[in-house]
Amino acid sequence: MIFDSHIHTRFSADSDMLAIDALDVAARQGIGLVFTEHIDFDYPGELDFTFAPQEYWRTYEPYRGSSLALGAELGLAPGQTKRDQAFLAQAPFDAVIGSVHLLDGRDLYNASSYEARSQQEVYTQYYTAMADLIREYAFIDVLGHIDYICRYAPYAQPGVHYELFREWIDGVLQALVDTDTVLELNTRRLGDRLAMKELVAVYKRYYELGGRYVTLGSDAHTPEAIGASFALAQDFAAACRLQPVTFFARKMVCL
Ligand SMILES: [Zn+2]
Ligand SMILES: [Zn+2]
Repeated sequence: MIFDSHIHTRFSADSDMLAIDALDVAARQGIGLVFTEHIDFDYPGELDFTFAPQEYWRTYEPYRGSSLALGAELGLAPGQTKRDQAFLAQAPFDAVIGSVHLLDGRDLYNASSYEARSQQEVYTQYYTAMADLIREYAFIDVLGHIDYICRYAPYAQPGVHYELFREWIDGVLQALVDTDTVLELNTRRLGDRLAMKELVAVYKRYYELGGRYVTLGSDAHTPEAIGASFALAQDFAAACRLQPVTFFARKMVCL
């Protein structure tokens, strides 16, 4: 069974999705899910991107099994591994995605992250921070959406740009291989042909450097987004010779 390994339900500050609705959609598609709620202590602004691990576990544990795993998406921040590991120790999470959402404490979602700064400057800082955080957070299972910045960067060509940033992207991929961290294939941008073409270069390079596994994740915050572009994603993974996997009880499972 294929798994959508990146899903946000109502335990995430930016989602109202009910587990029952998510599970219903997944059952109709014949796929499994991993719930990965936001845990981001450093998130600036109004929304509280934290949740109570015991309550999460109590609420969803009855559904946990061969087609549902319970995980978290941890916002990575320099110098905070102790705090974050203490959080993760409060429930027997199945999977931990580590994600870079913030640069200098500001969400890349916000236009202020790019004000008066060149793409070269922001992107090299982004990839450098990501490589450093993967090594610092070597205990995470998966790196979430390597192309998060491309969703929001206000530049004419916001893609990952493997050729331009080869040195820095290779730093990220090497950190993944060195720490046995799996690279997620986030399906959010796969509908865009150019975005997909640029991502293929990154995932092929990941294979060249020794990476063998990917998780597939829609990053759904609503039922309609579950399993988005999954047929494309499976072809993508096969073309890059990467094996789709998921995690259960912090152990990798081949799909
Ligand atoms: Zn994320
Ligand atoms: Zn997410």
